[in-house]
Amino acid sequence: MGTLAYRKILDLHTHTDNSFDGNHSTMYMCERAELAGLRGIAFTDHVEIDIYHQHAFDRRAKQSYFEINKAKAAFYGRLAIFAGVELGEATYDIPTAEALLNTLRYDFVIGSIHNLRGEEDFCFLDVENCTDEEIREILLEYFEEERQLAKWGKVDTIGHLTYPLRYIVGEHGRAVDLRDYSAEIEAVLREIIHSGIALEINTSGLFQQLGSTMPGEDIVSTYRHLGGELITIGSDAHYGEHLGRGIQEGMALAERCGFHKLTFFQDREPIQIRME
Ligand SMILES: [Zn+2]
Ligand SMILES: [Zn+2]
Repeated sequence: MGTLAYRKILDLHTHTDNSFDGNHSTMYMCERAELAGLRGIAFTDHVEIDIYHQHAFDRRAKQSYFEINKAKAAFYGRLAIFAGVELGEATYDIPTAEALLNTLRYDFVIGSIHNLRGEEDFCFLDVENCTDEEIREILLEYFEEERQLAKWGKVDTIGHLTYPLRYIVGEHGRAVDLRDYSAEIEAVLREIIHSGIALEINTSGLFQQLGSTMPGEDIVSTYRHLGGELITIGSDAHYGEHLGRGIQEGMALAERCGFHKLTFFQDREPIQIRME
C-alpha cells in the first residue's frame, strides 16, 4: 500500500475562477494541489456548448486555457498539470463543440450533461412539483442524452453520470431506484466502451446530500462487468481547499469493482497507472 499522499495522486476534475461557479485562481489552485500532496491536476473549467455564443464561452475558454498553460510552466517539475475542459451538452451543438476542440489543444476533455435540451441545469428542476412519471421521463431523456454523448465519443471521459440524482435524490429526498433504468444505463456504458472513452468517478457527491459518488458503485461495477477498462477520478473541486477530496474513496471504490489502474490523459491520449 502506498502512502496517503501517493494515494491522492491525481485529481482530474477541478474548476478555477474561469468557471462561472469557480472561486480561486489557477495559480492558487496549483499551490493548494501541491500542499494537498497531489502529483497531478487537470483543470477542467466549464464550457457549456448549448449556451456558448450567448454567454461568450469563447473568451472564457481561451482565458482558462491560457492560465492553465502559464501554470504548467510555473509548476514544471513540481506538479503535473493537464489542460482540460468540462464540455457541457456538446451533442446539442456539435459544430460548435468540434470547432472548440479543433482550436485549443487540450490534454483532456470531460463530457457532461447538466441540462436537457432547451432546459435549465438540473439544479433548477422543480422536483417538488414533478410527478413520479415526470421524474421518470426526465431521467429517461437524460440517459438517452448521455448515450448519444458517449456514442459521439469526441470526449475523453463521461463526467458525473447520474448528475440529476444530486438534486432529485440528494437535495429533494425523492426516492429513485436505478434498477428501473438498468437497460438505459447499460446502453450508456456500452457506448462508452465502444467509443474507447473513459467513465469518471466524480467524488463530489460524497460531500453533498447525495452521499455517494456519481455514478455510484453499482454502475461502476456494471461498467467493469461489461468490459469497461478506463476510469478517471475527480473531486469536481470549486475551491482550492477541496482539491483531492474523495479521491482515495474513489480509488477504493474502483478497486472493489475490479479496476487496478487509473487513467489520465495527455494530448488527448489515455495513460494508465497502477493504483497501489
Ligand atoms: Zn459538471
Ligand atoms: Zn465540474
